[in-house]
Amino acid sequence: MRMNFCPNCGHKLEMGLIAYRERPMCKTEDGGCGFIDFGHYSLGAGGLVVREGPDGVRQALLIQRGEEPNKGGWTIPGGFVEFDETADVAVMREVEEETGLQTRNLGLAAFRNRANPGDNNSYVVFLLEITGGEIHTEPDPEIAQVGFFSLEEMRKMPRLAPLSYELAAAAIENRLRPFQATQVQGVNGAPPFTLYI
Ligand SMILES: [Zn+2]
Repeated sequence: MRMNFCPNCGHKLEMGLIAYRERPMCKTEDGGCGFIDFGHYSLGAGGLVVREGPDGVRQALLIQRGEEPNKGGWTIPGGFVEFDETADVAVMREVEEETGLQTRNLGLAAFRNRANPGDNNSYVVFLLEITGGEIHTEPDPEIAQVGFFSLEEMRKMPRLAPLSYELAAAAIENRLRPFQATQVQGVNGAPPFTLYI
């Protein structure tokens, strides 16, 4: 995963001591631009949507993946956060793309972080409330099925991701204590940001 050439100027990267460890860098003394490779980070976002079923039993929204990786696996809806959007916007976009449902953010419910080889990956999970839309009934190439399921039904799903089960169970059983989103004005011309507190 480590870069050999500078993504800015194409100069060969050399190891240098920056912030207490050796990192690939584009050394200015060799005619480079000063770029430092701090490594790769990625951010995913998942949405928890719970409703009361016709029999009064609480259910959570799940999707079945129609494509690799993990084709046929069930998870809560979500996906990667694009570099030019915030995580809360990403999760509402992904939930609508994958399920057809429009939602509103009720807060940040969970954070999962893992240092994979070559990629430090984080996953943030939001509790969402349905505001509109219709659940997709036609399969599309990416999403094979969409539906609401009770905990009892989830326990019988062999391809349900364990993390999705844990999160859905916590949401269904009202055990989540989500952090609330607050909009904060940026200073010195910086855009506003969302603080979860
Ligand atoms: Zn460079």
